[in-house]
Amino acid sequence: MTEALRIALVLPDLLGTYGDRGNVLVLEKRLRWRGIATETVTILSSSEQLPSSCDLYVIGGGEDVAQQAAVRFLNRGKGLRRAVERGAPVLGICGGLQVLGTEFTTGDGVRHDGLGLVDAVTSPGQGRAIGEVSTESTIDGVGMLTGFENHLGRTVLGSGSSPLGRVLRGTGNGHDDAEGAVTGRVVCTYLHGPVLARNPTLADLLLEWAVGRPLPELPELPVLEALRAERTRPPARARK
Ligand code: GLN
Repeated sequence: MTEALRIALVLPDLLGTYGDRGNVLVLEKRLRWRGIATETVTILSSSEQLPSSCDLYVIGGGEDVAQQAAVRFLNRGKGLRRAVERGAPVLGICGGLQVLGTEFTTGDGVRHDGLGLVDAVTSPGQGRAIGEVSTESTIDGVGMLTGFENHLGRTVLGSGSSPLGRVLRGTGNGHDDAEGAVTGRVVCTYLHGPVLARNPTLADLLLEWAVGRPLPELPELPVLEALRAERTRPPARARK
């Protein structure tokens, strides 16, 4: 590839409440460490529309009202749908998962259409799910995933999606021990963190899809390994 790999940071002014833009910093860094040029395109809600030509799309979490505005924006021009149809990977976090899903009902009980890019229906649970989560990923080579969840919505997957992981600790989707939703190369999760800072295997999976070839391994930072060990240990009350 001669041109820079283009990462789209989608609507951080709407879906940027939980620091998920950090995922883009991780993607940039892991590309540059490998000598691959990259450029980030930030699409704000004041932009005309979302370009369909980016190589990878990142959508963060946010509040219910912001999610509705995001659906309206993303339905205009259909750039995201066209990108997905040509196989561009998409990462959607929490509110982003709900927006990418088929429908979501907000805390006020009102049902909204989502973009329908993953087969997932969200409705409010009994109180917010807040805290550390760990899961075992269902995707080969990704392994254990950890993150922090903070959401009211609970998500049921339809037959067109599979979970990103099986919950070991925390709530996740709140149904069937499932966490997240994957359809093709659209990968959604409730994990903040930002998730890619905490889970480099997931970052590299998305990058390999975007670049179109396997990437050389990178040495892991010792500080990250220590943090992972801490976060995957059972909570203190469960230990003898
Ligand atoms: N508003 C959504 C919910 O509470 C998403 C929250 C989030 O993105 N963390 O379920």
